[in-house]
Amino acid sequence: MAIIIDGKAIAARVREDAGLCTQKLKSRGITPCLAVILVGDNPASVSYVTGKEKALAEAGMDGRDLRLPAATSEAELLAHIAKMNDDDTVHGILVQLPLPPHINEDRIIQAISPKKDVDGFHPVSVGNMVLGRPGFLPCTPNGIVYLLKEMKIKTAGAHAVILGRSNIVGKPLANLLIRRDVNATVTICHTGTPDFSVYTKQADILIAAAGKPGLVSAGMVKPGAAVIDVGVNRVPDASKKSGFILRGDVDYDAVEKTAGWITPVPGGVGPMTIAMLMRNVVEAAGNTV
Ligand code: NAD
Repeated sequence: MAIIIDGKAIAARVREDAGLCTQKLKSRGITPCLAVILVGDNPASVSYVTGKEKALAEAGMDGRDLRLPAATSEAELLAHIAKMNDDDTVHGILVQLPLPPHINEDRIIQAISPKKDVDGFHPVSVGNMVLGRPGFLPCTPNGIVYLLKEMKIKTAGAHAVILGRSNIVGKPLANLLIRRDVNATVTICHTGTPDFSVYTKQADILIAAAGKPGLVSAGMVKPGAAVIDVGVNRVPDASKKSGFILRGDVDYDAVEKTAGWITPVPGGVGPMTIAMLMRNVVEAAGNTV
């Protein structure tokens, strides 16, 4: 049976630490503040934004909550971002993705000042990450690396296989895993990979970030491997009040029996994403001292 990686507990410790840093900054007259912008009312996005705002309040930080209607134009959104870029009391700016289809996400991400890019999605942040220079690291990949270190899972010399090549998970994660302090050998699988199980079966560390419920079955996993499930999929379930349950990309019940470590969904990677965001906000506010 796999060791269950308790992302919720590990994230709670990171958030507590961010709270202590916040107190120190406050004693110097700075209250870390994150502006959270949500366009539209996508239910998953509303729930993520609510979680982030709750975490800010718990850590003693300020949250500037901006909820805009789905019909908001790109120009209007850019104007809000420009205002927040110029506001010295706002240290971080987060625009919840995805945006409605009439808004160009790249243009929005690039409009955020790199100094306030606590999501780590701006090309300047991405460039700094790839080059190993100081800068904001994207929260989900950074949270995954944090989990591996915290659980003392051997990464040096390990073969890490990532399912998914998105800009927010797969690509940045591959970059963090090949850093010298992690030292893994990385394979990225994606929709163009004919049979990804060829690679996943060799993985000492398998990270599933495809957004497909139950994609990874027990037969695709090397016994004893560390399995990190990034997927958050809403699967219809009439027996639930909400009408759905959250499922990861991994067939948890089957894989748990043979893996060495596994993250649950919910309660694994998700809480780490928020915790790493809190760290980045503290860092952004600290940079202004
Ligand atoms: P995305 O749709 O942008 O990317 C998915 C990637 O998976 C693509 O690169 C695609 O090539 C690959 N893929 C899809 N189906 C595949 C298949 N059958 N075989 C091989 N590769 C396949 O998604 P994303 O934004 O990277 O998110 C992925 C999942 O992670 C989603 O479920 C999302 O909700 C979740 N997520 C969770 C967190 C968190 O904090 N827990 C954060 C970000 C994303």
